[in-house]
This record gives sequence, C-alpha cells and structure tokens, in this order.
Amino acid sequence: MTEMGRAAVYLGVGQPFEIREYPVPEPEPGAILIKITMATICGSDLHMWRGELDLVNHVGLQLPAIIGHEMTGKVAKLGEGVTTDSAGQPLAIGDRVVYRYFNPCGRCPACLRGEDAACGMNLLFPFKSVEPFPHFTGAYAEYYYLQPNQTVIKVPDDLTDEMVAPVNCALSEVIYGLDKVNLRFGETIVIQGAGGLGINATAVAKDMGANKIIVIDGIDNRLELAKTFGADEIIDMKEYKTPEERMMRVLELTEFKGADVAADFVGIPAAIPEGVSMLGQGGRYLEIGNISPGRPFELDPSALVSGNKSIHGVLYYSDEALKQAIDFLSRTKDKYPFDKILAKSYPLEQINEAFEAQDKGLVSRSAIIP
Ligand SMILES: [Zn+2]
Ligand SMILES: [Zn+2]
Repeated sequence: MTEMGRAAVYLGVGQPFEIREYPVPEPEPGAILIKITMATICGSDLHMWRGELDLVNHVGLQLPAIIGHEMTGKVAKLGEGVTTDSAGQPLAIGDRVVYRYFNPCGRCPACLRGEDAACGMNLLFPFKSVEPFPHFTGAYAEYYYLQPNQTVIKVPDDLTDEMVAPVNCALSEVIYGLDKVNLRFGETIVIQGAGGLGINATAVAKDMGANKIIVIDGIDNRLELAKTFGADEIIDMKEYKTPEERMMRVLELTEFKGADVAADFVGIPAAIPEGVSMLGQGGRYLEIGNISPGRPFELDPSALVSGNKSIHGVLYYSDEALKQAIDFLSRTKDKYPFDKILAKSYPLEQINEAFEAQDKGLVSRSAIIP
C-alpha cells in the first residue's frame, strides 16, 4: 500500500484550510524527503490568508496548494548521491535540518552575478499545486520535498525546533538584509516594528557590533521583548504618537545626527518615509516589511538626494545566510530567549485556530506541529 502523508491544504482566500492526504514521495537523485517536526506562521502567510497577498493572481499559484514556508524537520529519505548538507557536513537519515524554501535557477543574470536571492524563480518556485508529484512543497504538512540543489543545513542538537523553525525566513533574511545595507561596527540603527523580524534584527544588529539600537513599536510586550533581545532604546508609539514626534526622538537619541541605518519590519507603506526621515548623512534604509503589491507610499525624493541616502529592498537571502543564522543561534542561544518569540503550538488539525489567533494578535508567532 502507498504510504500517505497529511497536509493542511490552502484552497484560496477566505476559505479554511482542509486536511487531506497525499502519497509520500520517493526522492529523485539529489533530492531529500524531510519529515517536518515544526512549522511556524509568518506575517506573509497571514497576508495570503487574509487575501492581501494574492499569489494566485500575482505569480500564478495553482490551487489547491500547501502554503507556509517556515519549518524544520528531520531527514526521512535521502535521494541517490546525497551525502552532505550544503556546507559539506555529513548528512544521514534522522538528522535535523533547515533549508531554503525557494530554489534559485542557477541560470539567469542574477544567479550568474552571485545574487541568487534576486533570482526570478524564487517567487515562482515555493508553492506548487499539491496534486502532482512531489505534492509536499509547503510547510503545513507532514513532509517536505527538498529539490536537488536546494540549500540545506544540518541543525546542531543543542538548538530546539522552536529556535530553528523560523530561521529559514526571518533570521536569514535579517542577516542578509543588514549585510546588504552594510551595517557596520559602532553604527546606530533604528528598527521599525518589534515582531518576529524586528526582534531577530535587534539581536543580529547587537551581534554585528551596533553601538545603539533603537526599536519602535506600540505594543508593550513586544517592546519588552525588544529590550531582552538587545534594544538600547525603545520608542513607544503610544507615547510618541506622530511620525514627527518619533523622528525628533530619534534625533535626540543620536545627538541630532540621525541613524546610520533604519529598517522596516512593519509592512505598512507609511513606515518608509518615516524611517527615511530618521536617517543621518549617508544613511541606508532597509526595506523588508512591505511584501504585498499595490500599496504605494509618498516620499519627497530630495530627502534621499540630500545626504546621499539609499533605500535597499530585500526579499529572500543567500545560501550562506542560512548557515550564518544557525551559527548565530548556536553562538547566542544562552544570551537571548529565542524560544520566547514563539507563543503557542497547535497540531496540524487546528491550523485554522492558529491562523485566527495570530490574526487577532493573540499570539506573536504560532507553531504548527504536524
Ligand atoms: Zn516568513
Ligand atoms: Zn536565477
């Protein structure tokens, strides 16, 4: 009898996930079958669920599909020829792994330049219809089919699933993004938004040697968490209510020089002109939060020209950033309470409840245990 695996299938905006079963695939040469042990719900999954991010119309996603991209698991089956992870470490059945949920083509101008995070295939690849082989191309399921050449990194035993499940999205992207805007030792950074991305960015900026980290949010427990993760100053939006007040506060906190780097982890277009207004001479702005198309913002371009400021957009990350993320966690796991970012776990069957709870803001990041 064919072995079957369960999946929470996404049927479209406004529809509940449905649990269905599909044949467990045999890996082709170079591929790996992974038994997922934990998946997490990312802000972008919520955007899809709410209908703010329509991948069906945007990139032609075929439904039904398994969505979700943040996950970790164990090697269940190794395809022929696979003996190591992407860093050259020996890999065997039962090993815990994290992996990129996208697979750059390796045959386009961006990949050729060594900028495979910008590969056009990244957007098209992640989720496919669940019907054809290999079925399991998303996180909310029992299995995940890792394509040949898809980046995979072994997880050391001293890191928990709670720590590593969101690593292939939030943490890796933050590490890559802060490198892209060239955050340097001794610089000042403003972090807009203390959700999963912002909290990770706070800890990474600290580790990179930022001199002052200023975190902006309006929710008390997020601000508290930011402090635990290394924020030197917080700006509470309940106290500093307008963009002008917040900009003035950043100026005060930077001896009226402005920040060297500011970064959007909010996902609201208005955060961009506000963040740019907080930059000093030569400042760099990192845009990560706004992933949903069709929501423009207004900016006086002279704000960039004056002082040679720049905006750098980042989606996805390099294969190296995934390894750096795991190494960073190993190095700092006793310093920061990474497992506190995750609030609650749900079995796969309760995925609809998990999305509702996170949508209402009852939990900051929920985990799905298939
Ligand atoms: Zn994500
Ligand atoms: Zn490419």
